[in-house]
Amino acid sequence: MSKDKPSSTKFACRKCKYILGEDDTKCPICGGTDLTEEWSGLVVILDPSSSVAEMMGAKKPGRYAIKVR
Ligand SMILES: [Zn+2]
Repeated sequence: MSKDKPSSTKFACRKCKYILGEDDTKCPICGGTDLTEEWSGLVVILDPSSSVAEMMGAKKPGRYAIKVR
């Protein structure tokens, strides 16, 4: 196992704003690889049927960025 980036670096998917885990190299939600470190704000979605999840467009529980550049 090799890590070529700091563990504190987290990427967010530009499409669905999902914040990837440390070892993820692509988005587990949409399978996209259009990732960015330039994101801000964080929402934790526990219930995908909640109004917050609906507002964020979140379809799965997880952490989502509020703003993605
Ligand atoms: Zn995605």
